[in-house]
Amino acid sequence: VPEGHSLHRLAREHRRLLVGHELRASSPQGRFAEGAALIDGHVLRSADAYGKHLFHDYGAGRHLHVHLGLYGKWVSNPQPAPEPRGALRLRLESQETYADLRGATACELLTGAEVRTLLARLGPDPLRRGSDPDLAWRRISRSRAPIASLLMDQSVVAGIGNVYRAELLFRHRVDPYLPGRDLPRETWDAMWADLVVLMRAGVKAGRIVTTDPADRPAGRVTRENAHYVYRRTGLPCRVCGTKVLTAELLARNLYWCPHCQQ
Ligand SMILES: [Zn+2]
Repeated sequence: VPEGHSLHRLAREHRRLLVGHELRASSPQGRFAEGAALIDGHVLRSADAYGKHLFHDYGAGRHLHVHLGLYGKWVSNPQPAPEPRGALRLRLESQETYADLRGATACELLTGAEVRTLLARLGPDPLRRGSDPDLAWRRISRSRAPIASLLMDQSVVAGIGNVYRAELLFRHRVDPYLPGRDLPRETWDAMWADLVVLMRAGVKAGRIVTTDPADRPAGRVTRENAHYVYRRTGLPCRVCGTKVLTAELLARNLYWCPHCQQ
């Protein structure tokens, strides 16, 4: 599942390639035909990400909302666009660029009021300037739920997915099952500051790297060396050598070091 950094990276790409252009919009697959007809021929005014949600503003109260979910993908390339194939939900085209959306969980037109309602349900996004970590802290500090569940709850923090969740907990040596209300305030402040740095680096690089240089072999960061615990079940912890554990929590795999994180 794409995490927040991917959506912010997409928004940035759409700002660079599509914003300011009058776009042709079509839904070759037909599932978004009505919506596409309403934005066809309009100028894209802005593209923005909040957590894992992407928004395009076409003016006149027409906001495109996309949530990629598990299988969604946007691909942008220079024209000419090939013949549409398969389940192509939405194709946007300027003179120079085409952008194809497939497999998204949500692809819909919303009014400004509907966008505000949706945003009001989201917690602060570490990638948005001015986001207030206190809003997340209020939820965390009052909850008996495990911190690992709270971090994945988009109404607590917007944009964290499974990788950032596992890695953030490791980096701060927090037991994933610790109830939110038992997390020390200073730990949360440090976690938030760390998230901002890690996620910004993710936007820049287009990938998630959470290991510190001291904890991985020198040179290019390979996929194997990019994380402390995520998908490292049974491998030795990079810090203490204990085998990394995995368990399911709310239908998602959790990874942690039982020695470092207790
Ligand atoms: Zn360890």
